[in-house]
This record gives sequence, C-alpha cells and structure tokens, in this order.
Amino acid sequence: MTFARYNILRVVTCTALSAICALSLTVSLAGCDSGSSGDATRSVDAGAGVQADSTQDEATQTQADDAAASTEGEATPESQDPNAAVDETQGSSDESGATSAKDNRTPAEIRATLNITEDFREEFIHGEKPAEFQKYIVMHDTEGESEATNVIDWWASNGNLVASHFVVNKDGSIVQCVPLDKIAHHAGFGDAGHNESYGVTDESRDDKEGTKPIGDWAPDYGMNSYSVGIEMVHMGETHEGYPEEQLKAVDGLIAYIDAYYGFQSDIIEHSDWRTGNSDCSEEFQPFLQNLQTTRTHDGS
Ligand SMILES: [Zn+2]
Repeated sequence: MTFARYNILRVVTCTALSAICALSLTVSLAGCDSGSSGDATRSVDAGAGVQADSTQDEATQTQADDAAASTEGEATPESQDPNAAVDETQGSSDESGATSAKDNRTPAEIRATLNITEDFREEFIHGEKPAEFQKYIVMHDTEGESEATNVIDWWASNGNLVASHFVVNKDGSIVQCVPLDKIAHHAGFGDAGHNESYGVTDESRDDKEGTKPIGDWAPDYGMNSYSVGIEMVHMGETHEGYPEEQLKAVDGLIAYIDAYYGFQSDIIEHSDWRTGNSDCSEEFQPFLQNLQTTRTHDGS
C-alpha cells in the first residue's frame, strides 16, 4: 500500500482495541522499564528443559482432552520414537529457530530448537482455548522497532488487555506471553459477517474484558477464541525487509504450533480479519503466501 494510505490506516488502527497493531507508533517504548521485564522473564538457557517439559505436559493434556483433534499420532510423546525424530530433523534446526514443519518431532523437541522465553501475564488471558477450537494462526506486525520485552511491557501497561501469544524479534528470539491453550486479544473486532465466514461463531469462552466496540462495520469478535497470534517486530512505513533470522524463527514457531495441536491451522494476516488493518506489511506478502502453502517462508 502507499505510504499515505498506510498512515490513514495507521490512524484507524489506533483505536483502543486495535492498538495491538499500532502500539509503538506513538509511544516511546524507550520509556518502558525494560529492566523490570528482564527480571520477569526466564532465559531459554536457564530453563529450556523445564519449559520443554512443561510445554509437553500442556500439549499432552490438550490432546488427551480432545482426542479427536489429535489427528496425527506422532505428535504425542507416547508414540514418539526419539531416534526417528532425530533422523527426521535433517539438520534443519539451529538456535535461530529454523525447523521444518514436515517432520515428526514432538512439540518439545521443536520448541527446544527455538530461542524462546516465557513471560506469561495473567491479565492477557481472556478464556480457555482447547484444541478443538484452534483454527487459525494470525500474523501481525508490531509497527515499531522496540524489542519483544518492551512491546509486552507496553501491552501490560496500556490497560487495553491486548496481546499476541508470541512476539518474534528481528534476531529470531521469541517471547511468549500467553499459553497456547488460552485466549488472547490479538485480533480484535472483525468485519461484519466474518464470524460466520471464518467459522468462529462461538464467542462464549471470551470474557471480552477491556473490549470497546469500534463500529457497526466490525461487530464480530470470534477470531480470538479460535486462534494463536504471532507478532513480528517490524515497521511497515520503513519498507525494510524481514531479517532471515526472524523469518526462520517464524517458520520454527509455526512448526511448533502445528506439532502442539497435531494439525495445521490456517495462516492468515490480521488485515484478513479486519479490513483496513495495516498489518502485515506488503514486504511480508510473499512470505505469507509461502507459509500458507508450504509452512515455510521461503517455500522450501
Ligand atoms: Zn495486528
């Protein structure tokens, strides 16, 4: 889109409930207390094993709760042959998060390849999202240059109770602030009729705390209850590219989410859900199309 159009859309997205996309446009995140966020987060080096085990337990429980959703037995740890998983890795994993979605590794094994930190915030949780309701992965841009920890601090401080499950830094490091089996307010309101067209009609699990209607044209609020939000640190107006490290981390994250649920969720961008949203930027479009078809940004 043109720069002028982008700025218009940016103003539109500056409503309270769409602040998730435009949060750092007008706010100087340099003023955020990054020191305290550092205390609140756990580095992957310090607790990767614990996180992996914990995540595995969550995935196991989710799949146990809804056996029908676990359509691929290889996603469950009980059926996993560790040696076979190593063979399937094909040397594609590294610390930047490069992984293949076409493998049989467990969620914990894929997560262990990601440079991921947990910084869960209770206030970002708006309900339960068991696997049977998971349908979409929604891609977002932060529209700012601030790193993930500062973005999450801003979400926590602005009172809107919005957040995405994951924020991916340009260097490929990832911060997760909402568990996968919980509802986060990352998609906000969608166009009239989108609940029906996207098959996300049940809004009953969402407490809708902090929501503020943005107009009759966008009354639908079902997407949050059926999706995972991934935010990439990126500012559209600069038209800068996405670093390879960041794109590989997104690939790895999607592979992890696929393995966690045992099926592939549809990948959309935020502007699909609500017309006029700025994200993702045009620079991401080729990668989005590749992700939608091959689950990797480069189409491999
Ligand atoms: Zn967004």
